[in-house]
Amino acid sequence: MGYRAINFSAGPSTLPEEVLKKAAAEMLNYEGTGESVMEMSHRSAEFQKIIDDAEQNLRDLMNIPDDYYVLFLQGGGTLQFSMVPINLLTNSKKADYIITGNWAKKAYEEAQKFGDIRALASSADKNFSYIPKFKKEDIREDVDYVYVCYNNTIYGTHYNEVPDVGDHLLVADMSSCVLSEEIDVTKFGLIYAGAQKNVAPAGVTIVIVRKDLVGHAPENTPIYLDYAIHAKKGSMYNTPPCYSIYMAGEVFKYLKSIGGVKEMHERDVRKAGKLYDYLDHSEMFTPTVAKEDRSLMNVTFVTGDPELDKKFVAGARERGMLNLAGHRTTGGMRASIYNAMPEEGVDALIAYMKEFEDENK
Ligand SMILES: *Cc1c(COP(=O)(O)O)cnc(C)c1O
Repeated sequence: MGYRAINFSAGPSTLPEEVLKKAAAEMLNYEGTGESVMEMSHRSAEFQKIIDDAEQNLRDLMNIPDDYYVLFLQGGGTLQFSMVPINLLTNSKKADYIITGNWAKKAYEEAQKFGDIRALASSADKNFSYIPKFKKEDIREDVDYVYVCYNNTIYGTHYNEVPDVGDHLLVADMSSCVLSEEIDVTKFGLIYAGAQKNVAPAGVTIVIVRKDLVGHAPENTPIYLDYAIHAKKGSMYNTPPCYSIYMAGEVFKYLKSIGGVKEMHERDVRKAGKLYDYLDHSEMFTPTVAKEDRSLMNVTFVTGDPELDKKFVAGARERGMLNLAGHRTTGGMRASIYNAMPEEGVDALIAYMKEFEDENK
């Protein structure tokens, strides 16, 4: 650290320093090719190896079975709000959504354009500070899928167990928690994640989808919005976001080198644990989320006084701790402590919080 700020941004967010250094060293001449990955043909053997290795390493890290495609797409998490219903509303054209915040709500609203979409449960009554429960019997019997946002980036809530949807197909937006915990992929029909929270620079979105679900989009589906074309062409129907895929691949290699998702999760639990522990004992700061639904990635808290919140955020910035203001819809503070946030970053934040608390009693 030192010359690098401690960046608590919710996304785009901090990346592992080791990966940034390797990318910098390879910037002008990637593995003796004389080219940057930015300049390389996506049809070259070198790039084919980059994308193949990225896919294989992600499969290894997440234990993704062979009957799932791994796709590297564009359009961010947001395009999946449309692609999911277009591709998966193929029988009853019904789906049930759980509304746990802004991103889930946007997905729900977009899906309305394509079928009979219902909100099965919502935590809007308490400003999305908890994960709402539902009974699997309450799911409409013939839905094509049930949709959840697994980690709610803005509010700091997270599904601490896979929701029980019985025999129904489960779809999850894991944009802000992918690779922070071991996940049984087989419990999901489709998982997607925009890269710029926990994986790579913005530009690539990972879609993990069971193969039998692909290829049933309506005939008038724009070709680019059909998973089938991307699956058939190995995510290279057109020019892919080459550099973001390369960076994602480097992050996957890095994760493997430290011991995979299991080790990463232990580190994330330790980091978030320290911060929540401090918050639970603080007389000034209060965590905003129900204990059982807390996110390891986005930690939200308030002082109860918006002026004091502002002072805290400004003081943090002076100390090289960036982007601690909460989302514009929630106020307060949010510390995004994704995989790439080193433990020392969390320690520095806690030290500053103690100091701030003493000075502003
Ligand atoms: C950031 C985010 C999105 C939107 O991602 P874009 O890439 O900006 O479209 C969707 N879902 C979740 C959970 C997010 O955190």
